[in-house]
Amino acid sequence: MKAVVLRSFGEAGNLKMETMPMPRPGRGEVLLRVHACGVCYHDVINRRGNLPRTSVPAILGHEAAGEVIEVGPDTPGWKTGDRAATLQRMSCGDCALCRSGRNSLCKTDNRFFGEELPGGYAQFMVAPVGGLGRVPASLPWNEAATVCCTTGTAVHTVRTRGKVRAGETVLITGASGGVGLSSVQLARLDGARVIAVTSSEAKVQALKEAGADEVIVSRGLDFASDVRKRTQGAGVDVAVEIVGSATFDQTLKSMAPGGRVVVVGNLESGMVQLNPGLVIVKELEILGAYATTQAELDEALRLTATGGVRQFVTDAVPLAEAAKAHFRLENREVAGRLVLVPPEA
Ligand SMILES: [Zn+2]
Ligand SMILES: [Zn+2]
Repeated sequence: MKAVVLRSFGEAGNLKMETMPMPRPGRGEVLLRVHACGVCYHDVINRRGNLPRTSVPAILGHEAAGEVIEVGPDTPGWKTGDRAATLQRMSCGDCALCRSGRNSLCKTDNRFFGEELPGGYAQFMVAPVGGLGRVPASLPWNEAATVCCTTGTAVHTVRTRGKVRAGETVLITGASGGVGLSSVQLARLDGARVIAVTSSEAKVQALKEAGADEVIVSRGLDFASDVRKRTQGAGVDVAVEIVGSATFDQTLKSMAPGGRVVVVGNLESGMVQLNPGLVIVKELEILGAYATTQAELDEALRLTATGGVRQFVTDAVPLAEAAKAHFRLENREVAGRLVLVPPEA
């Protein structure tokens, strides 16, 4: 089969198409014919060698969607022809965390596609079925591929962790990225009033179209007073913090008493100063949100197929152009999401 193989960490040009042996599914696994694989900034970080669990040679890609063409032994529930999309990471399904539904925290099996597991930059890939969601028949492959990292994360963040309810006001920082646009749509769909924060004037229209009631253009230093004004001094009930350290202080100052801050991104990997007094007197809840569970991916795929949440796939390019796709992503030349399409086998 054809696959894009990374033989040494480094620049985008290290991603090269090669002929590789056909993988075979083992126990609890299926073989997928990959129809599309999203290119995520995570892949760029991985390619540079900054993810410790990846070793070369590697096949990157954790946003794959494809059709089951072979089912391994002892793999109930899946059959040839089923449509599937990958989760970012595995879980064992059996430990105390998994049994309480918190599969994204599983430590027994935390393998990632594109890291310990060969990923979707290939014509075919093997996937443990615990790492797959089901793609509705009406959902195009290019969209299905990007759902997990955008809408899947939003389902985990807005619903599971943030428990956003109808009538609440939700602040979303970094709202114009993939997770942000999905979170805006989902919070709105669930009946919340959405205040989106973006650093770019050019993104205002897209955010309004996604359903944001208010859009604040801010570089992150001063939006709290604006949020207070737009909520008649009350502050917001929930914040979806996608930017992280750069906006965290302003986000805390934007919260209503009893508010929930759900932290899902930390783009600059920075630290924050926290005034515990503010957390105490307002009884704020600060929650983390990490990855996606199988049930959340199924829900995200369903929401996308039924039109509740829209994907923003702006480009589908041949798999052979993976290096160019990485180059474009690194140089901020991609407006929405970009997917690679493997050649027909
Ligand atoms: Zn991703
Ligand atoms: Zn587990």
